[in-house]
Amino acid sequence: MIQSTAEAVAAEYGPEYWREKEEAGEFAQGFWDELAEAGFHGLLIPEEYDGAGMGMQEMGLAMETLCAEGCGMAGTWYLVLTAGMAAVGIRENGTEAQKERYLPDIAAGERNFSIGITEPEAGTNTLNVATRAEKDSAEETSADPSEATASEDGDEYVLNGQKAWITFSDRADNMIIVTRTTPLAEVDRGTDGISLFIVDMDAPGIDVSPISKHGINYSKSCEVFLEDVRVPEENLLGEEDEGWWALVDMLNPERIGFAAAGTGIGKLAANTAIEYATDREVFDAPIGSHQAVSFPITQAYARMETASLMREKAAWLYDQGEECGYETNVAKATAVEAGIEAVKQSMQAFGGWGYATEYDVERWWREINLTRLAPVSQQMAYNHIGQELGFPKSY
Ligand SMILES: Cc1cc2nc3c(=O)[nH]c(=O)nc-3n(C[C@H](O)[C@H](O)[C@H](O)COP(=O)(O)OP(=O)(O)OC[C@H]3O[C@@H](n4cnc5c(N)ncnc54)[C@H](O)[C@@H]3O)c2cc1C
Repeated sequence: MIQSTAEAVAAEYGPEYWREKEEAGEFAQGFWDELAEAGFHGLLIPEEYDGAGMGMQEMGLAMETLCAEGCGMAGTWYLVLTAGMAAVGIRENGTEAQKERYLPDIAAGERNFSIGITEPEAGTNTLNVATRAEKDSAEETSADPSEATASEDGDEYVLNGQKAWITFSDRADNMIIVTRTTPLAEVDRGTDGISLFIVDMDAPGIDVSPISKHGINYSKSCEVFLEDVRVPEENLLGEEDEGWWALVDMLNPERIGFAAAGTGIGKLAANTAIEYATDREVFDAPIGSHQAVSFPITQAYARMETASLMREKAAWLYDQGEECGYETNVAKATAVEAGIEAVKQSMQAFGGWGYATEYDVERWWREINLTRLAPVSQQMAYNHIGQELGFPKSY
């Protein structure tokens, strides 16, 4: 059912739609609304908050199918941050009030979240985040409680810092932001002292500036500057100083989503190239009849099928509440490698036409290139896998 629903959505929002959105640099509101209509925004949300109560296995399948059936990267991109990370973060670590406030809106497609982790000096090394959140309580602000200015309703945190590459932050309603409530220099373990907050993006003191980028231009990724941004304490997500563990709950779904993107975009490019190579004749023979053309695509396809299975396994473990870091990294790293090879070899099959925007494969090449860099780079995924295998930690 998930697969056929995703196929039906992708049939309406195929390559031509995305070519136009990419060229116009325009957010795909129609697609976003359709994802809500199809129930995909609420897939990971419990039924009591208007969702479908399903898991990452179903979400991964929906994402891969959307990507492979014509949406390319958008099939993951428009789901992974809000319906994936934010929904899971709030589902797993939110207070009852936070769940009631945000989850039904997410399921309905009425709330867009961005996720603010990366900073100019904290990309691969997330623990280096320096954005500060300092508590500003009524008592600290004034000795006389009647003159308290911190908040009419209670204590607030004051956020200062800078984030980089925050996707959708130009239009999002909220951002889940990773901050330090205790500076790195003052904690025993780097994972201590981190706190997450749900920030309203229209709060005073937030300034957003888009970064011009290589692809995926149907969304903007931005620098976000925070200057004395006041956040009520009820917007703390999870425990103060313990936010790392709430963040980890969100990072595995993100990696599973990018694994789905790797195989999804790769399968889309490969299927498109197979059709082209069957039609296109050079030297009086279809180019697909040459094994020099067909084998590299076929080999990449076989590897993608294996990576899809590994993604299913990682997602199944995640949904059971089991440890799944190793499987998730294996799925992400192998899906991305196989997918990149599939798109590269598909572009080769198109010859010069692979370079023309009208055949889309050059756009999928630009899209899939991101998956080797983010959300965890290939090198860092292999660092984690190697460590699990018994190699000394290298970072
Ligand atoms: C289009 C786009 C959208 C994004 N959206 C978001 C978003 O919504 N929210 C968000 O928080 N972030 C987002 N990011 C940021 C992304 O997660 C980071 O770019 C990524 O984590 C890499 O960080 P960096 O660019 O600072 O690389 P660096 O940390 O500077 O690393 C540079 C290179 O060195 C390698 N390297 C570093 N250390 C090691 C080591 N020990 N061993 C081996 N190799 C190493 C890395 O793998 C990488 O190849 C986005 C990025 C892009 C490009």
